[in-house]
Amino acid sequence: MELECAVQNYDWGKKGMASSVAQLIKSSSPELNIEQDKPYAELWMGTHVNGPSFIKGTKESLADYITKDSNSHVLGDKVKEVFGNTLPFLFKVLSIDKALSIQAHPAKAHAEELHQLFPSVYKDPNHKPELAIALTPFQGLCGFRPVQEIRFHLNSIPELVALCDQTAVDDFLNCQGNPQIHLKKCFKSLLTFATTDGNSGDIGCFGIYFFNYINLNPGEALYLGPNVPHAYLYGDCVECMACSDNVVRAGLTPKLKDVPTLIEMLSYQSQSYNKFEPKKIDEFSEVFQPPIKDFAVAKIQIPGSKSYKFVPVNSPSIVIIIQGSVKIFDKVHKRGSVLFTPANSELAVTNLEEEKSLIFQAFANVNNLPIIN
Ligand SMILES: [Zn+2]
Repeated sequence: MELECAVQNYDWGKKGMASSVAQLIKSSSPELNIEQDKPYAELWMGTHVNGPSFIKGTKESLADYITKDSNSHVLGDKVKEVFGNTLPFLFKVLSIDKALSIQAHPAKAHAEELHQLFPSVYKDPNHKPELAIALTPFQGLCGFRPVQEIRFHLNSIPELVALCDQTAVDDFLNCQGNPQIHLKKCFKSLLTFATTDGNSGDIGCFGIYFFNYINLNPGEALYLGPNVPHAYLYGDCVECMACSDNVVRAGLTPKLKDVPTLIEMLSYQSQSYNKFEPKKIDEFSEVFQPPIKDFAVAKIQIPGSKSYKFVPVNSPSIVIIIQGSVKIFDKVHKRGSVLFTPANSELAVTNLEEEKSLIFQAFANVNNLPIIN
């Protein structure tokens, strides 16, 4: 089934046809009018209430279609057993022109606690691990830098030190043992300086001196588990996450910041951050399989005029065609088409063009996949 998906026009999105999101929706629905000065930030594929997908043609919401599936034909028995009667993931395309907020996401138990204490801010009790796979050269901040890099910045940038507590900085620079406690104090003093001095602007711009600066090439990925500080800066990506909206923010944003919660929850492990490696399934496909059950994402590239059979998964899938036109059963699907398939579907795809096609498939990570390396 083909889906109609929601677009989010957040302020940080790329504008008009410069945005991958705009290009994809225009390609699949040529009648749409793309406004050149409007940001097209995110395409949401899934059942989240803030941007639900609908089934093309019938206009039924995907959430309703899944809920009425009493015999678990759509969800599959594994997904139903682990997650109940819901799609456990939200799949997105992001097109970023300026920095998103510095943020982290709580672990499951912490999310349950935050939701109970502050239900108007943390609206669901779920964790929100995230996987971002670059579509264009992509930049982000992720995790605390190695100690020696942060020390170098504190030693060489007086403007940065001026915003931090001097004792905390000295302790961090001089300590022989575990520096995490001192790093936490330094970082806390920087963030709380921002909240007590009304004239200091957005302190988030100093985040670059504390966090690893990551460049991804197209096809490379980042996985963000609980409590890892991060901010996406620029570029386009596909992103998959657990179905949740629990974000604790601290800067580079006009949205609500919850600095005390963020400071307490963050992981202060300071080390360089590794890209998240996929595993190969067969000659045309590889899978990004994070250490959680909520989702995995397969990247499928089919060479010109070849056919490919998707590996059947015991989970519903959301499939997006990022490049090329393909034939699935008897229907031609162009770039930007988004499809929903029930659990255990056998999907045969033929690439109709000379160029390689590029397809991403999100599904719940409850399968033993035939990994070959
Ligand atoms: Zn995030």
